[in-house]
Amino acid sequence: MKGYTSSAMKIMSNRMDYGYFRYQKEFEEKALSVLRSGWYVLGNEVRTFEENFAAYTGAGYCVGLASGLDALWIAVRLLGIGSGDEVIVQGNTYIASVMGITINGATPVFVEPDAYYQIDADKIEEKITDRTKAVMVVHLYGHVADMEKITDICRKHHLKLIEDCAQSHGALYKGQMTGTFGDVGCFSFYPSKNLGAFGDAGAIVTNLPGLAEDARIFRNYGSEKRYYNKVVGANSRLDELQAGLLNVRLSHMKEITEERRQLAAVYSRELHGKDLILPKEREDTRAVWHQYVIRTKRRRELMEYLEERGISTLIHYPVPPHLAEAYTHLGHHRGDFPVTEDYADTVLSLPFYSGMRQEEQQYTIDCINSFV
Ligand SMILES: *Cc1c(COP(=O)(O)O)cnc(C)c1O
Repeated sequence: MKGYTSSAMKIMSNRMDYGYFRYQKEFEEKALSVLRSGWYVLGNEVRTFEENFAAYTGAGYCVGLASGLDALWIAVRLLGIGSGDEVIVQGNTYIASVMGITINGATPVFVEPDAYYQIDADKIEEKITDRTKAVMVVHLYGHVADMEKITDICRKHHLKLIEDCAQSHGALYKGQMTGTFGDVGCFSFYPSKNLGAFGDAGAIVTNLPGLAEDARIFRNYGSEKRYYNKVVGANSRLDELQAGLLNVRLSHMKEITEERRQLAAVYSRELHGKDLILPKEREDTRAVWHQYVIRTKRRRELMEYLEERGISTLIHYPVPPHLAEAYTHLGHHRGDFPVTEDYADTVLSLPFYSGMRQEEQQYTIDCINSFV
C-alpha cells in the first residue's frame, strides 16, 4: 500500500467515457454523417447493423429494436407465450428477464443458479409442468450456461429456448455464439453493455425467417407497408444514430472482448484471500466478462473499506426477482431459493470497464488484498 494515499485515485465501478474516447473520431464522424443524412429511424445504418450483427453472431437474421427489454417481451410474445403459460428462468437474473415474461401474462418459474452464476441445468427438468412453454437462459455477467444440457432438455420436452444475451455479446459455448442455440437470442445495447450504444437499443437474432419477419412488422406498429397494419404491434424501432454508432463499436468487438478477458485474467491471477470466491470460466466456453463478480461473506465491510480508498463497487443484484416488491403476487418468500439468495447477499462487482488503466486495476487489487 506504500505510495498510495486515499485521495490519490478515484476508481469508478464503470467508465463509459473511456470507451467513447478510444474511438472518438470514428464515433463523431458517424454521428455527423447520420445527422446530415436527413434519415433518422429505420434506414441504411439499421439495415447494415442488422446484417453485421447477424454475421457476427452466426445467426440467420437480426432485427433491431428499441431496448433489451423490448427484445425479451417481443420475443416471448411472438413465440405465442402468454397467460396461463410458464417460462423457466434462473432466479438470480436482472429483473428485465422476468419482466419480459410477465409483461405477456406468463408466469416465471425460477431455477437456482450453478457455481458459474448460470441457470443450473440439472435443476430444470424438475420444474417442467404441462404449462411450461419455454426456458429462458440468461448468460449472466458474460459467462455461459451449460448449453448442451439445456438444448437437450428443450428438445426432449418440446420447449422453446430463449436466450437473454444482454450481458454476453460474443460469448461462446464450444465455439458457437450465445444467442444462436434456440429459437431466439435477445440483446441489449444499453451503454454499459459490452456492445453499448449511446442511448437505448436492442435486437433479436434468430434462425427462423418467420420470426424475424414477424418482429420486423411488430416493431413498427404491426405494419409492413406504411399505414397498412396487419397486427397490433408496438413502437420499438431502432434509430439510425444508435445503429450507426453500434456499427462503429461492432467493428472493434474483437479487441474490446480481448481486453475484457485480459482484465479478468489479471484480477484472477492477482487477487487472493480465503474470504473471496473468484469467478471461473466454464470448460469449453469463452466468457466475455460483462462484470467481474466475486463473493464474500464480509461484503459490507469490504465495500466500505474500498469506498474509503476511493474505489466504488456495485452489487448485481441485491434483490432477486422472486423477492422484488413488484413480484409479491407470485407468493415467494425468503428461503425459497437459498442459492439465489446467498448470491444476492454475497456478490460484489469490482470496477471493470473497457479502457481500464493498469494503475487503476493494480490499485484496486492492492486495496482488496490489503483488506483480506
Ligand atoms: C440490461 C439487461 C436487460 C435489459 O436491457 P435494456 O436494454 O436495459 O432494456 C435484460 N436482461 C439482462 C440480463 C440485462 O443485463
